[in-house]
Amino acid sequence: MKVVVRYAGYPMMLAFGIGLHYVLLANHAGVQVATYLPVIVGAVMITGLEWAYPCKQQWWANKQEMAQDAIFMTLIQGVLPKLLAAGVILVLSENFDKQYLLVEGVWPTQWPVPLQMLLMMVLADGLRYWLHRWAHEWEPLWRFHAVHHSPHKLYWLNVGRFHPIDKGLQVVFDTLPFLFLGVGEQVLGLYVVCYAINGFFQHCNVDLRLGILNYLISGPELHRWHHSKLKQESNHNYGNNLIVWDLLFGTWYLPKERMVEELGLVNRQYPSAFLKQMTVPFIPGADKQSVST
Ligand SMILES: [Zn+2]
Repeated sequence: MKVVVRYAGYPMMLAFGIGLHYVLLANHAGVQVATYLPVIVGAVMITGLEWAYPCKQQWWANKQEMAQDAIFMTLIQGVLPKLLAAGVILVLSENFDKQYLLVEGVWPTQWPVPLQMLLMMVLADGLRYWLHRWAHEWEPLWRFHAVHHSPHKLYWLNVGRFHPIDKGLQVVFDTLPFLFLGVGEQVLGLYVVCYAINGFFQHCNVDLRLGILNYLISGPELHRWHHSKLKQESNHNYGNNLIVWDLLFGTWYLPKERMVEELGLVNRQYPSAFLKQMTVPFIPGADKQSVST
């Protein structure tokens, strides 16, 4: 069973999430239900895999960490993107007569939904690749992104740990352009299912091997190196869903025969509580040395 999970856990779970999405749509569930129910079921199943087949037992989170990460997941991953998207939809709505903001006739709405979703994923990942790379290489952006790199362990729930300014920029790069292009709700729904389940896996503490998929998908084996404490290791594997842009721009990194060691920031006393992490990016150098917050 362990071997099956190790090699087939990721593709099976992604296929399950996409399958459930289509079953719900076929049974006349709304797009919202068909999108978020597979994500919730996926999260529950990945939690089970983490307990049964952990990559590292020392990465199991304690109650305090889980509580803080749940706050981030709810507010930053759940509420904030919805507010930003709702604001854009309001601006685009006919009531406000701003339809001219829509770029019509460019997006291939006649393509099948899965193909549109793949196109969106490749393009969104390209934009996110450069945002993520700048967030590592340009100090003012790094201060906000450092919040995401602050944990000393990886497990699925801490994929939501982002500063709202960092998360807001991500939405500007990977969601808003597609709303302006008029990408349909079903395409966005399928994208969210894949994006969320892949994100859970990217951070998960499950002993997985993606094999040849490590040249296509930005999965956990690659992403653990991205969270290394060592800059020469962590400034790689910027891909959000796909790893193709890292391959193209020379930042793909997966050492063989060894496992990543310490994760997190140089400053091991960097604050971890939600409210403190809202303000700590405004303190220069906080990721490298202890500062009073
Ligand atoms: Zn990063």
